[in-house]
Amino acid sequence: MRFSLLAARALIGRVKTAGGGDMRALIIGGGIGGLTLALALHRKGIETTVFEQSAQIRELGVGVNTLPHAIKELAELGLLEALDAVGIRTEELIYKTASGQEILRQPRGIAAGLDYPQFSIHRGKLQSLLHNATVQRLGAEKVKTGAKLVRFRQNQTGVAAAFEDRKGRRWVEHGDVLIGADGIHSTVRRAYRRSPGQPSWNGILMWRGATWTDPFLTGRSMIIAGGMKAKLVLYPIFNDPEGRPGKTLMNWVVCAKLGDGSTPMPSRDDWSKKGELADVMPHVEGVLHLDEVDIPAMIRATPEFYVYPMCDREPLKRWSHGRVTLLGDAAHPMYPVGSNGASQAILDAVCLSDLLAEASDPADALAAYDAARRPATSAIVRANRKGGPERVIDLVEERAPDGFASLDDVATPDELTAIVGAYQRMAGFSAKQVNRKAG
Ligand SMILES: Cc1cc2nc3c(=O)[nH]c(=O)nc-3n(C[C@H](O)[C@H](O)[C@H](O)COP(=O)(O)OP(=O)(O)OC[C@H]3O[C@@H](n4cnc5c(N)ncnc54)[C@H](O)[C@@H]3O)c2cc1C
Repeated sequence: MRFSLLAARALIGRVKTAGGGDMRALIIGGGIGGLTLALALHRKGIETTVFEQSAQIRELGVGVNTLPHAIKELAELGLLEALDAVGIRTEELIYKTASGQEILRQPRGIAAGLDYPQFSIHRGKLQSLLHNATVQRLGAEKVKTGAKLVRFRQNQTGVAAAFEDRKGRRWVEHGDVLIGADGIHSTVRRAYRRSPGQPSWNGILMWRGATWTDPFLTGRSMIIAGGMKAKLVLYPIFNDPEGRPGKTLMNWVVCAKLGDGSTPMPSRDDWSKKGELADVMPHVEGVLHLDEVDIPAMIRATPEFYVYPMCDREPLKRWSHGRVTLLGDAAHPMYPVGSNGASQAILDAVCLSDLLAEASDPADALAAYDAARRPATSAIVRANRKGGPERVIDLVEERAPDGFASLDDVATPDELTAIVGAYQRMAGFSAKQVNRKAG
């Protein structure tokens, strides 16, 4: 039977308010944000189902960094040991120019005196870890794959959402709240925007891959070399001492500014477009150099890698509409500088679950969540447009385009640490903020 708007209207009329503590949340999207929300709501005793459009949760993507404030939340969900099994605790971050001159070196996570580590991890492994925990704690039937949200409606008492499976069959689910954790092309976000259009592109293309190679420096170090025009990001994401002794799975990202973003995007900003060596190498050879790693050789040794434009969206004036709200990339897609994409989705999830557990009216909880999280994440979207903490590199490269004999002639350590420190405080992961005890 085909689902129609009329049928949805009729159905919403019959939605019952769960009320009295047996609220049901419909989460759209089984990414890092959606799955963390499922775990956080379950901890609060709220009934939850995740609907994911993909036929199965597969380990897609390459590396992500997850910052100590988000790791604190995952640790409180009992996931620290599982994280250690599949990721690497990042110990230091070194900012360099594109030609490899060191600008700033900072300890990270535990090494920086925080109570929680920062993790470099394969995105797919993090998603799998969350998925496994969700299935274990909530039951396999609470993560419905092959379930694509096509439309939804709400009234005073609940929401009704229509889904479509891979064969085009449609059905309707009812709940008290609906949360769009459905990524940068969010269907839920689109429902509230007359002309959502494409995400905005800043003219930077990113090639992204991971390959087994020798470790560098501490084996837990991360390097960011180059500002917004030409950049390399490098960090190890996994060790396998038995299968690959002495080697590490190295995540790399090469960014190149090809225009000012006024030209049309070269391809849709999905996550699975394969990159070509011939396209990336002109932005590497003679452009990016590190003493620690042979970058061209590492890229050539990468079996396959991906390419996509660096995109975000203009911050919204509103996320929550009655019983419906947004979370993670659906709410605040941001440039991947400053390592905040996955981390902020995790923070959204915990904030929303806490508020839903406390509120007598779900719409009030969603409004409070909007007020708590939207301004904070909008500020990060805007800061990332200017390079985030990596602005220290742009600053030095602008002042000394041909390099420097002494960094002190270009910028003082105080000036550089102030930029990075201000970003950390704004995004909520300074030592003081992370180590603050609850209550
Ligand atoms: C395949 C993939 C690979 C990625 N790779 C990287 C990477 O290598 N490095 C990095 O830093 N970031 C990567 N990201 C982005 C990163 O995961 C996010 O920035 C961050 O983790 C926030 O996650 P999220 O849960 O909000 O959104 P996402 O991770 O984008 O998850 C959204 C989920 O919603 C599902 N969905 C979308 N529309 C619907 C619908 N209508 N109905 C049901 N489900 C729907 C999607 O299939 C997806 O699983 C990737 C995202 C994806 C989807």
